[in-house]
Amino acid sequence: MQHMTSQRTVSESNRSHILEHLYRNGVCSRAQIAQALNLTPAAITKITARLIDARVIEETGGIEGRKNRRSIGLTLDTDRFHVISVKFARSIVQMGIFDLNGGCLSSQTLPTVTDETIGETLQAIRTNIQTYLEHDDSILAVGMAVPGPYLRDVGRIAVVSSMQGWRKINFLREFADRFRVPVFVEQDARAGVLAHYLFDSVNTCDNLAYYLVGEGVGLGVMENGELINGSLGAATEIGHISIDVNGRPCDCGNVGCLERYCSAVAVHEEIVKRRLVAHASSMNHARACTALFAGAQDGDRRAQELVQEVGHYIGYGCVTIFNAFNPQRIVIGDIMSQGGARLLTAVREVVNQRAIPELNDSTTIALSHLSADATLAGGAATAIIQFLEHPSTFFDVS
Ligand SMILES: [Zn+2]
Repeated sequence: MQHMTSQRTVSESNRSHILEHLYRNGVCSRAQIAQALNLTPAAITKITARLIDARVIEETGGIEGRKNRRSIGLTLDTDRFHVISVKFARSIVQMGIFDLNGGCLSSQTLPTVTDETIGETLQAIRTNIQTYLEHDDSILAVGMAVPGPYLRDVGRIAVVSSMQGWRKINFLREFADRFRVPVFVEQDARAGVLAHYLFDSVNTCDNLAYYLVGEGVGLGVMENGELINGSLGAATEIGHISIDVNGRPCDCGNVGCLERYCSAVAVHEEIVKRRLVAHASSMNHARACTALFAGAQDGDRRAQELVQEVGHYIGYGCVTIFNAFNPQRIVIGDIMSQGGARLLTAVREVVNQRAIPELNDSTTIALSHLSADATLAGGAATAIIQFLEHPSTFFDVS
């Protein structure tokens, strides 16, 4: 599924395929797994024995086999293992505990972060992770979702418009090797696409884009089940694609970046400028946008106009996503997805006018409807994918 796949040994790869098969399909017999994965029954017996010994999977009651013979089922109990997720979104940091199905068992939002309080926030996260680990033996890993462009190998974010303080933070240095479990860091929209790939029951395709429109604007694209990363890990940064070569300047050095028109930061500026929400200047970006959507819902015509404008900008981004990546499905998530049907209608207006008809006809655009916040769930998915792909990192199964 991911870039590390090519580095796995054959036996780790087979082990991973068995785990993923059980993860996707629930209870299966050894014979069913052998057939689905085109492996010999002897190989399945050997690998599953090690996984059972290490208590990664377990045998369950008999299931109906071929010729009505009962055979023993195998299962990966997705409730039994947990992961910690941390979502970094400029001023908002959230943490949660998830099971392997993406079920959120608990979550908390840390105090609003400013450039001056980033250090305190990092310390609070470390303390909270330690406390979670002390109280829950079943936690396998920590997954973190950070704003992009995230330089994957370095561990640092290249540009954070509106909150430059995060650029100084090296996430790998701050968090790796400090706990009894491993820590994995992923760009937030890529984490979001992993969350939809693993947890969204509606999603059946593996050419999928997650279009994050929150405090920043990001994109995660999965092609044939593989994330598109780019050489530094900074590919698919839709937020910094210019939609107006003479437009508003952006912290990244470009001009007219999409993020300058439809991020929660940009929309918040517009809300204040147009005086659409009382006391908007003292609110955080998310609250101001939520108030805007509530106003539009209650019939405030000027609020409705801004929601429509924002939807149009998001639509320009969709057209670029169509042309650059041709996914089967684009899921729009984060703060702006609260705009609901009104926003989605405006997105589709632009797409219907500007997208190549064949691409438009074959691409679904939907709002995220994961039960948890997609980026927070994405942190969990980042960790869970590692467990499914590299089980020997987590358990002695080789
Ligand atoms: Zn930019």
